[in-house]
Amino acid sequence: MGTKAIRGRAKKTPHAHHVDAQTRMDIEQFLSRTQIVLRLQDWNIVVDWGNRCEKGALATMQDMPDSRHAIMRFSEQFFALPARERHQTILHELMHCHVFPLQRLSEDTVNSLASKQATTLFNIAHSSAVELLVDTMADVLLGLIKEEHCN
Ligand SMILES: [Zn+2]
Repeated sequence: MGTKAIRGRAKKTPHAHHVDAQTRMDIEQFLSRTQIVLRLQDWNIVVDWGNRCEKGALATMQDMPDSRHAIMRFSEQFFALPARERHQTILHELMHCHVFPLQRLSEDTVNSLASKQATTLFNIAHSSAVELLVDTMADVLLGLIKEEHCN
């Protein structure tokens, strides 16, 4: 919850404060481990440690159209979360990678067929539906991954 995927274009992001080495290692390890579990090992997902995500999101995933490259950014609030919630957020962002092509197809199709106003309304409703989907999947996966790897 509170996370948001930003697709397609880069935005100016707030400057990052220092993240301790242990937290950074935990995040990098969890990310590479779950990338495999989620069958995203052919994606090149890079954490942008030098910048924070835009305000209002815990984390963002920015993909590049028609490729398997993505950049993940975190907010300052993200680092204040307990590890379990940080992991849920990472799973949420990773799930966006599976949905990006479908989301782009839907939005581009509506954009080419409908009025600007209808497209705007569709994009808001569609983004909400995507957020609900990826967040639910992240909750489910968090339970499964903990069982499989941490017992
Ligand atoms: Zn999201």
